[in-house]
Amino acid sequence: MTIFEKWGGWRKKCLGREGSAGQFWGVTARVLIDGPSELVFDYGIPVGMGVVPGCRVRVPLRRKSAVGTVLSVGEVAQMDFALREIEALVDPEPLITPVLLRVAGWIADYYGSSLESVIRSVLPESVRTEENSAKTRRVAVLKGDVVDEVVAKLEKRAPRQHAILILLKHAEGGRMAVADLGEGNAGALKALERAGLILLEVEEVRRDPEDGVEEVLESVPLALNAGQAAALDVVLEAVAGPKEAKPILLLGVTGSGKTEVYLQAARRALDLGKTVLVLVPEISLTPQTVRRFKARFAGMQEQVAVLHSNLSQGERFDEWHRIRKGVARIVIGARSAVFAPLPDLGLILVDEEHENSYKQENPPRYHGRDVAVLRGAFEPCAVVLGSATPSLESWHNCQTGKYQLVRLNERADGQSMPLVRVVDMRLEKGKHKGGPAILSDKLRTALEGRLEKGEQSILFLNRRGFARSLQCPSCGHVCQCPHCSVALTYHRTDERLVCHVCGYQAIVPKKCPECKDPAIALQGYGTQKVEEVLAKVLPTAKFARIDADAMRRKHALRDTLHAFKTHKIDILIGTQMIAKGLHFPNVTLVGILNADLGLHVPDFRAGERTFQLLTQVAGRAGRGDLAGEVVVQTFTPHSPSIQFARQHDFDGFSEQEMEFRSQFGFPPFGHCAVLTSRSTHERRAEFTLQTLLVRLKEDAPAGMMIGEVLPSPLIRAHGQYRFQITLRSRKARPLSRHVQGVLARTTLPEDVTVVFDMDALNFS
Ligand code: ADP
Ligand code: ZN
Repeated sequence: MTIFEKWGGWRKKCLGREGSAGQFWGVTARVLIDGPSELVFDYGIPVGMGVVPGCRVRVPLRRKSAVGTVLSVGEVAQMDFALREIEALVDPEPLITPVLLRVAGWIADYYGSSLESVIRSVLPESVRTEENSAKTRRVAVLKGDVVDEVVAKLEKRAPRQHAILILLKHAEGGRMAVADLGEGNAGALKALERAGLILLEVEEVRRDPEDGVEEVLESVPLALNAGQAAALDVVLEAVAGPKEAKPILLLGVTGSGKTEVYLQAARRALDLGKTVLVLVPEISLTPQTVRRFKARFAGMQEQVAVLHSNLSQGERFDEWHRIRKGVARIVIGARSAVFAPLPDLGLILVDEEHENSYKQENPPRYHGRDVAVLRGAFEPCAVVLGSATPSLESWHNCQTGKYQLVRLNERADGQSMPLVRVVDMRLEKGKHKGGPAILSDKLRTALEGRLEKGEQSILFLNRRGFARSLQCPSCGHVCQCPHCSVALTYHRTDERLVCHVCGYQAIVPKKCPECKDPAIALQGYGTQKVEEVLAKVLPTAKFARIDADAMRRKHALRDTLHAFKTHKIDILIGTQMIAKGLHFPNVTLVGILNADLGLHVPDFRAGERTFQLLTQVAGRAGRGDLAGEVVVQTFTPHSPSIQFARQHDFDGFSEQEMEFRSQFGFPPFGHCAVLTSRSTHERRAEFTLQTLLVRLKEDAPAGMMIGEVLPSPLIRAHGQYRFQITLRSRKARPLSRHVQGVLARTTLPEDVTVVFDMDALNFS
């Protein structure tokens, strides 16, 4: 079944007269009308109109006209005169390539989104509007070789014309913008044009988002070490070689020089006449990576497009068209840049492929990395996924032979990996006069040492997640579900502990079930508290905080990072905002304040995320000539995530984590989806999901596991109550199609929204 046969039920509603007798030969186009109704109709293509799939067209719809996207173009066939025709092409060239159209169809089918909403992502609003066309200006161009005598003759007779000609003669290419020739020249220009001395033209001007942004100096390629050279060879073989190369997972420890491999691979792909797409988790959070790309390709700035969320509508429009026309040949962007309409795509790089921000949390809920892999297969082109801590999904794909694995096991500049010390915070109890133990003696001493030596430090506190777990400060015990090996979530509304996976409930214990200490408590303190403590303990230190609260101001992040780089700051305190890709050679100490915070959230990926985060944060230390040290404070020093991160041991971690995943049928040994209902009306949200549950259980595909209806950990958000069902299945498609089928057959109450999240990463 082709993707678009899903719309087999389309009807030619546009037919004016039923059964009209007249017939002729022609070609039809199937058009998806813009708007939430997901209308698909066939239209005739007027003779001579170059309509291909992906074109945007204006069509008649009932008594009005509408804009839509051409999904497919039919064969020449006998048609009815009553079939209405396309009125006009919106864009001269299609902005959606055939591959992207195919990708869109796949996303709609796999993630259960409407095709129209997917197309809306593929072609952003600012690009699709008809009004927002290119910015233009009038230019005057000197015609052929205007001899000096002619110019001289005008000096007395027509001084204005003479002045214009002199200016043009000295201008590059004999052309200048009319606006730059001064005011009041309209008559003179007209006269010169009539005399055949100049041409007046209209040209497009680019609204350059990089205008006024600081210049970067061009960087030169480094001589690769043996490991990097071998990795580059594999990538280049995929770029140039056999059509259907497997995606490559580049697993390189932090500081192993993955970025240099990306840069050189990108350069070679461009040299081969191909284009390159670079995906990063978030543009604003990866300023250094983006900068390195800009620097390497500074000599060909015209060809670089950086797509970020701060582009104005006009800038986005221009960048998009520059990409489509093949002017911008290397595109750097976050998740949605995966739809950049690059022609002749040769290479897709996905940096930090394990990052959750690749998954879109609004419809369509696609995963940018997975779409990149799919697009690579459709193009076809080479795909490189890079990380020091790959997702277990990608790791699994290497083990089953779907991806090729390439490793960089050493740091590029010969530095050793930082030494990681684990501090058992249970032993710190009582030292802090009732308040939470924030700075251990060891970490405080280490910070003092750095201050004395003029070296810098980073303090990391992961505040991610709202669901809090109950933990004993004496023995470190965390209340867990006896059936699911996930931490129980504390629900404040009804004072209970609930397992988010199976529904098991427990009362909140008055004392630790393990060691009977009545001090068992909800854990949690924030970065602001850390600032307060630092000010007291290290009064001479200069520090700054990077988190969502502190970084609201525009450029705040850039400015703070710059201040840190130029050593105006000794200690940087931050959340996961500072975990990504930062490279500060003078940082020799990284302190992780509470490594447990992310560990006991009700999510089977908690261990994986903690391992990734600790490894990434630890990787910020010792990236220059000085050796790095990492101090990890934890109440559960023996947790595998912490122990394996301490050894920088991805293989060890993944081996034991995979065992747990396979035991419970969790991804990557199957797919996991979440169906969530939301409503301001609590009972209706719950009841709707109960109804859906009954239908889901009717002829469910074999092997599909359907959980119970449970309150979401975040039971009320934005004034809405939330309930959810977790679904698991070894195969993705049967699960997705089954749920979509049930949803299509069920009429939902008006005040209840149901959200289907395939391959969900967020269970809150
Ligand atoms: P990763 O992206 O794997 O974390 P980076 O690309 O940031 O690693 O590289 C870490 C440091 O090593 C950078 O300062 C980079 O300039 C340097 N580097 C990378 N490759 C080489 C090389 N071949 N020779 C010397 N230094 C290198
Ligand atoms: Zn459970």
